Amino acid sequence: MTVENELQSLRARIRAADDQYYNRGHSDLTDADYDVLFVQLRKLEQAHPDLVTQDSPTQRVGAPLPKGNSFPTVAHLEPMGSIESLMAADEVREFAARARKLLALPDDAVLQWACEPKLDGASANLLYEHGVLVRGLSRGDGSQGEDLTQNLRTIRNLPMRLHGDGPFPARIEIRGEVIMSKAGFARLQEREETSSEGQFRNARNTTAGTLKLQDPRVVKRRPLDFFAFAIGHCDGITFATHTALRAQLQEWGFQIATPFELVNDLDGVLAYRDRLQQQRDGLDYELDGTVAKVDRFDYQQQLGRTSRTPRWALAYKFVPRLAQTRVLQIGAQVGRTGAVTPVAHLEPVDLAGVTVRNASLHNWALLQERDVRQGDLVEIQRAGDVIPEVVRVLLDQRPADSTPPAPPSQCPACAGPLQQEGKFVYCSNLDCAAQLVGRLVHLAGRRAFDIEGLGPKQAEQLVQGKLVTSVEDLFTLAAKRPQLLELERWGERSTQALLDQIDRARTPPLARFLNGIGIRHVGETTAKDLASHFGSLERLAGANAEALMAVDGVGEEVATAIREFFSSPKNTATLQALTAAGVVPQTAEPQGAGPLSGRVFVFTGGLTTMSRDDAKAKVEALGARTAGSISKKITDVVAGADAGSKLEKAQSLGLTIHDEAAFQALLDSL
Ligand SMILES: [Zn+2]
Repeated sequence: MTVENELQSLRARIRAADDQYYNRGHSDLTDADYDVLFVQLRKLEQAHPDLVTQDSPTQRVGAPLPKGNSFPTVAHLEPMGSIESLMAADEVREFAARARKLLALPDDAVLQWACEPKLDGASANLLYEHGVLVRGLSRGDGSQGEDLTQNLRTIRNLPMRLHGDGPFPARIEIRGEVIMSKAGFARLQEREETSSEGQFRNARNTTAGTLKLQDPRVVKRRPLDFFAFAIGHCDGITFATHTALRAQLQEWGFQIATPFELVNDLDGVLAYRDRLQQQRDGLDYELDGTVAKVDRFDYQQQLGRTSRTPRWALAYKFVPRLAQTRVLQIGAQVGRTGAVTPVAHLEPVDLAGVTVRNASLHNWALLQERDVRQGDLVEIQRAGDVIPEVVRVLLDQRPADSTPPAPPSQCPACAGPLQQEGKFVYCSNLDCAAQLVGRLVHLAGRRAFDIEGLGPKQAEQLVQGKLVTSVEDLFTLAAKRPQLLELERWGERSTQALLDQIDRARTPPLARFLNGIGIRHVGETTAKDLASHFGSLERLAGANAEALMAVDGVGEEVATAIREFFSSPKNTATLQALTAAGVVPQTAEPQGAGPLSGRVFVFTGGLTTMSRDDAKAKVEALGARTAGSISKKITDVVAGADAGSKLEKAQSLGLTIHDEAAFQALLDSL
């Protein structure tokens, strides 16, 4: 291949990956592979400077803007570039040596580097005017980003107004990373397992996708966090060092990434990264490396930037956790919702200290896209604690006689018919044993009925032994005590323990009951919201779509699912059988004991002195209820800054409207 051809091919592959990533939210190329290609291209161009073209991916900042997206694009006040990604210690050494040389530092002069974790999420640029958040943009192509203000505002740890007394800069851009913590992602997966988006693949992917959602209410329910890492345009203040900037950002109310270290030399940078790489599993967030910045701002200015990246900041990436192994078989598993998903059974392989036997393939469409086949040698990757994923097939190692796996034509568990819904395939047999096992395990979960000792193994035994043919059977299990004792490994004591546990679980709080019975799209959080809004199962079951949608975060899709659940004869029978077996959810705390009892509040627009959640909690503590949309039932509307269509609707209905000052006065008067 000539050098020109090689350059062309590298550029084309990078562009294709960019395009996929920024327009579809994911790319077939792993980040590590992407970085490798990019480094290859850069090296080749450095060796052949005459062959560098203006449109080469190395010559631009960031990435192309998404197409066909309805968020308006707005220019950053100052360009928002990315920083150079380095994979090897030698590259870091070179980078640092170049910086020292450009600064003309004598050999004995100390050049301090500020070291921070490189969080793996989506970057955002927030504009504060006189201390008030007025706009939030995605990084976009580096010169302009998408206006994601509404979605960014929902992030709880992101200050709507800078903390402290000021004075604040007339305009300041705060740059940072929006991420989802490992714990938050795990909770999200658990509670939204049945959501229409299907399973979430990983925290980074989910974060990027979430920020582009059209419905800020859904965004709000996703556990996003914002970590500030830099400033862009700034009127009137200068900082001596990055360390000083971090302190100021913190004072203004921003969270900043830790552990932070200010090191005196290059070895410090390398050691910091190695240490963090070892600790990565124990940290709260996904990292893909570390960032080191020349601490002094005057040095940063002196160093300036190349056409693409600053000469004073570098990202030193972690070694990707990849392993190669063989696909023994591609199987299918059936979840409690009936979703039939492919799973790759692998030749056991050690991946960063964990023996991996299975890898997730998420859905049949993705399996087809990645073209994974039985017998293939594949590369698997583990990011954080999530289940390893097949990222790549080594096609040159593929057996000659291999054929693509056919998606199942019937349920692998019950041979029932399958139904296609979007990217997912469902077993539509309501009596499917595999689904029943999944439902039992879910019902027994800690956030549902909390029945200890009823895990997948036990549930499978109960179902296979025909001791349980429906979830309600669980609560009449005591009558089958002799048969239970016949099950393998079930002794007198464990049997009694389980029966006791089941007995104790007959009166769960309403929220956990609702989570446990598995209404589609109703996870833990929605169940809580429904329970506190309606108070009793009867009121929830009788609620129409409009009443359901008055619950914050319940949209049309969820409301429909709830209506369908309660109107299905099978579910009604189940609920009746549960009642007959003595299963009665505790009614939720009656709302409305307090000075605001009987009033229903809607909040619209941003408040400056407290978050909307805090405001809701305050009025709820005073006995009021809160709702997400305007209707005639609403008694009070609190309109903050930028209140939109809700305010107009409230005005047209003649509702009582408080501005922020009046709302504060109301709270103060109680
Ligand atoms: Zn089935």
